[in-house]
Amino acid sequence: MAAKSKNELILGIDLGGTKTLVGVVDRDGRILGRGKLSTPSHQGGDAIVDVIARAAETAILESGRAFDEVGLAGIGSPGPLDVEKGMILFSANMDVVNYPLAAKLSERLGVPTVLRNDVRASCYAEWKLGAGKGMNNLLGAFVGTGLGGCLIIDGKLHVGHDGNAGEIGHIKAKPNGAKCGCGLRGCLEVYASKTGLVRRFAKARKRDVNSQLFRVWNGPDQKLKSRYLAECYKSGDSLVLQELQRAANYLGGSLGGLVNLLAPDAVILGGGVSLALGEPWLNWVRAAAKEHMLVIPEDREVILPAALGDDAGVLGAALLASESVAGKK
Ligand SMILES: [Zn+2]
Repeated sequence: MAAKSKNELILGIDLGGTKTLVGVVDRDGRILGRGKLSTPSHQGGDAIVDVIARAAETAILESGRAFDEVGLAGIGSPGPLDVEKGMILFSANMDVVNYPLAAKLSERLGVPTVLRNDVRASCYAEWKLGAGKGMNNLLGAFVGTGLGGCLIIDGKLHVGHDGNAGEIGHIKAKPNGAKCGCGLRGCLEVYASKTGLVRRFAKARKRDVNSQLFRVWNGPDQKLKSRYLAECYKSGDSLVLQELQRAANYLGGSLGGLVNLLAPDAVILGGGVSLALGEPWLNWVRAAAKEHMLVIPEDREVILPAALGDDAGVLGAALLASESVAGKK
């Protein structure tokens, strides 16, 4: 299939609460150039469009290609979103309300732009190009500030009747549990994400618990970087070890139940926290999952680490945009 050289490139955009990554992606899923800027989270939608456009210029420059070779853009964004309208409805981490991001960006970049959920984009990339390549049934669990998920069933991204399937973060993990950012109580995200850890660490800090973490993190007003968790974990800080183990138990327990429900080829464990903590965290989650799995395969691990790291969001946004356009033909 010989694509015209004009329009053959896709801009993959990973819009996060902290940073915005843009990649120039070719039709084979290779990133040819990258741009990265801080997200102006509290300056409204137009400022975000501006930053994306500037990061895109850097990425195109680095790729050595020309802007008119770009035919399409895909954005992975935190939600909730109205995917059909290309709109961010609101966001816990950015001051944006009912903002038509896809249309505004399309106008700015001069190419059709497709908006999708960020976790689903990352997961999709792991399926097509990463840890889940070649598999037909996958569950993705991405642990970062929140806990996002995604489902591939019988070789298709499963979106459900309203397009929002895959929200594993809002499975009930504890009756009458703590309130979640979504408004419900006892969601898994409250126990197995950075938001949940922040809540626990803030309590411990009030109780004057001694922890190395409190030398670098001054409480909930400051961002809890995954790197801090990894450093404290490596030096054996008892509070951090205890809380991470607790989070892994909650996450693994739910994943075990979901494996029983779905019988996936694999569960892909990704996200900033999983990436920073690596193998030991993966093994805790695996152990907790096995305690709740009806069948434990002897010849393989069901829970696998994500393979694409920071590139997953950019690649997934580009792939989903490409698929969305192809689907409309
Ligand atoms: Zn929730």
